[in-house]
Amino acid sequence: MDFRFDERAEKFRAEVRAFLGEHLTDEVIARVHDTGTVHDWGLHAALAERGWLDRLALDHAEATVLSEELARAGAPADGWGTSELVAHTLQFAGTEQQRAEVVPRIFAGEILVCLGYSEPDAGSDVASVATRAVADPEDPGWWAIDGQKMFTTLAHESAYVFLLTRTNTSVPKHRGLTLFLVPMATPGIEVRAIHTLGGERTNVTFYSDVRVPDSCRVGEVDGAWDVMKVALAFERQAPAQGEASRMLARAESWARSTGRIDQPDVRRRLARVALENEVGKLLSRRSSWLHGSGRMPVVEGSMAKLWASESFRRTSADLLDLLGPEGVLQHGDAGAAAAGWVEHAFRHSQVMTIYAGTSEIQRSIIAERGLGLPRSR
Ligand SMILES: Cc1cc2nc3c(=O)[nH]c(=O)nc-3n(C[C@H](O)[C@H](O)[C@H](O)COP(=O)(O)OP(=O)(O)OC[C@H]3O[C@@H](n4cnc5c(N)ncnc54)[C@H](O)[C@@H]3O)c2cc1C
Repeated sequence: MDFRFDERAEKFRAEVRAFLGEHLTDEVIARVHDTGTVHDWGLHAALAERGWLDRLALDHAEATVLSEELARAGAPADGWGTSELVAHTLQFAGTEQQRAEVVPRIFAGEILVCLGYSEPDAGSDVASVATRAVADPEDPGWWAIDGQKMFTTLAHESAYVFLLTRTNTSVPKHRGLTLFLVPMATPGIEVRAIHTLGGERTNVTFYSDVRVPDSCRVGEVDGAWDVMKVALAFERQAPAQGEASRMLARAESWARSTGRIDQPDVRRRLARVALENEVGKLLSRRSSWLHGSGRMPVVEGSMAKLWASESFRRTSADLLDLLGPEGVLQHGDAGAAAAGWVEHAFRHSQVMTIYAGTSEIQRSIIAERGLGLPRSR
């Protein structure tokens, strides 16, 4: 592939930057930092108005430029990310009704959809979920759902949860799962906040006799695994490389403002971070280019996600070390070096190696699917 973008894409980059200059205000950044809710309805509506929420509808260069600029600027996009991937999965596996009623509202920026996969005992091995969905024999066409989900990010702002349930216990675990698109307003759903080390708010969600019609089902009964393969591949394509560029820019301006920029060790460390970020950017561009040319970049997506998160953990630790004692003060504390953003990056980098597939899982995918090594699980 050609890693450069043409003039049109660079013009689009200028447009996105101007857009962010107008809509990504200090107030939005402060609210996201203070609440840990990585979503902003005003910004989301403005993105929708431009027609940018469906990145598959843009050409690949534009979609990549948009993602790069949003991540670089620190635009809150977690709710957009989960909703967009559900919309794309519904386009592939949803019913006509779901495609007509839910997908347009997602892309219009009216609603969010959260992901209800993980449970206390089912994360990496998501096929072992225990949340039960049982067809009601007395009320044909209705299901009753009971269970608990962990890390249901943005559940407190979402209109629907894309819920992975167990519908059959007498077949191998992958073959007994069914997906539902459940309205969050359904009686029996409870949402409780979890505040993570990385500064994000996520949730634990409880489902007690949650009754939904069969029209909420996505895919076949016991056939969720075929749908999940598509949904998980969409999820692994979006490494947050921009956060590392933002951290580098902040560390560099700290080095300039303190005069440390002239010290060889400081320059060497900043250069090393710049190199690591460049590798991450290229891996990410390759993945999105493959996607844009009609292929599903499973191994390449894992490579980009693994590099982005592991490199971010390495480089944020190194820069935190460089900043010294003031570096561990948090954003908002008086005297915090680099306004506490490197400290924030360091904490967040730990969490990034976990969600959307842990580093160990990404390594297994690369080893098995990319290198043809035997299965380890
Ligand atoms: C901030 C945050 C937001 C999240 N948002 C969502 C969300 O919106 N929706 C959702 O459904 N989930 C979400 N998750 C859950 C996330 O997908 C899981 O945390 C992740 O898949 C890991 O699962 P686990 O936490 O159960 O850890 P486990 O799977 O129990 O893993 C524990 C450790 O064992 C390792 N391990 C596990 N299996 C293997 C293996 N086969 N080979 C080698 N090593 C292995 C892991 O790499 C890890 O180091 C979120 C998580 C976080 C932290």
